[in-house]
Order: sequence, then structure tokens, then C-alpha cells
Amino acid sequence: MGIEEKLPAGIILGQVEQLVGLVRKASVWPATFGLACCAIEMMAVGGPKYDIARFGMERFSASPRQADLMIVAGRVSQKMAPVVRQVYDQMPNPKWVIAMGVCASSGGMFNNYAIVQGVDHIVPVDVYLPGCPPRPEMLLDAILKLHDQIKGEKMGAHKRAAEVEAEEKALAATPTIQLKGALR
Ligand code: SF4
Repeated sequence: MGIEEKLPAGIILGQVEQLVGLVRKASVWPATFGLACCAIEMMAVGGPKYDIARFGMERFSASPRQADLMIVAGRVSQKMAPVVRQVYDQMPNPKWVIAMGVCASSGGMFNNYAIVQGVDHIVPVDVYLPGCPPRPEMLLDAILKLHDQIKGEKMGAHKRAAEVEAEEKALAATPTIQLKGALR
């Protein structure tokens, strides 16, 4: 990415992280990406009642190259999966994904071969939003949680250290299949 990735770890990098985090969280541009019924709730946040413009996000981009947030609103069919991935790949870094609704998060009630059982099989997801459909207030809440995440994102040496720590934790964690009560 930019020059901030080359900065050594320390106080200056910490201050750059804070400044960049504040600027980034206040200028997120979503990509237009409604796939099913959840998209209607997503559209509602653009109206005067919920007013997503308060967060500087009223510009839903029709081009992935001018967007950095993908809100996957609705179930993803197997046929649509490569398109979702292509749109994601065309978005510039850094970029974020919200899985909106139970279908996008896990396949939901569509437990069949035609629907991807969670969009995280295709793209990395930052926030999972439950509900069928989630109300516009819930989407705004997910967006605010994503803002907090963006504000605290690490860069350069700090980012690499955080990645190593996360990987170590993941390797030390109990595999999901062995979690009693979760799956059986
Ligand atoms: S979660 Fe509910 S509202 Fe959203 S796409 Fe699935 S069925 Fe439709």
C-alpha cells in the first residue's frame, strides 16, 4: 500500500494509525450490491428516515473501483459467487465486507446445493449481521461497529505483529468440530 506501510513500529506509526483510521472510517463508500430481499432494507438506509449520509456514506458506487465497502445483502447463489468475487477483487485496498442477513452470513434457511452456505466461502467478512431481514437500524449498527474496527486497524509493522498474534491464537484454539454443544 502506501508509505505508512514502510514506517517502523513506534509512536509515529501509532499516531499515523489513529489519523488514518479516523479519516478512513468517515469516508467509506459502499458498492451497490443487493442480491435479494435484504437489499430492500439496505436501500431504506439511503432514505431520509435513516439517512446514511450522516456517516458520509450516501454515495453507493455503481463501480467497484470507486467503492471500499461491499454490503452483501441477500443470499448468494452458486452462479452468482464468481461475480461476487470478481466485484470484490476489483475494489481497491483497503476494503471491507458486511454479510447482511442470515442468508449471506450462513446460507440461512436455504440449506441446499444452489446457495453458497455463507459468503465467507468467497470473500473475507468483517461484520456478520443476523436477522431475516435485518432492519435498517441493525445495518446502521453494523456500519458503526465496522467504523470502530476501521478506526483501530493496524498498519505496517504493527499490522504484521497483529497478524502473527492472530494466527498463533487461531492455531491454539479448539477446532470447531470438537466444540461440545455447538455442533452436537
Ligand atoms: S435473510 Fe431473509 S430477507 Fe435476507 S435474503 Fe435471506 S430470506 Fe431474504
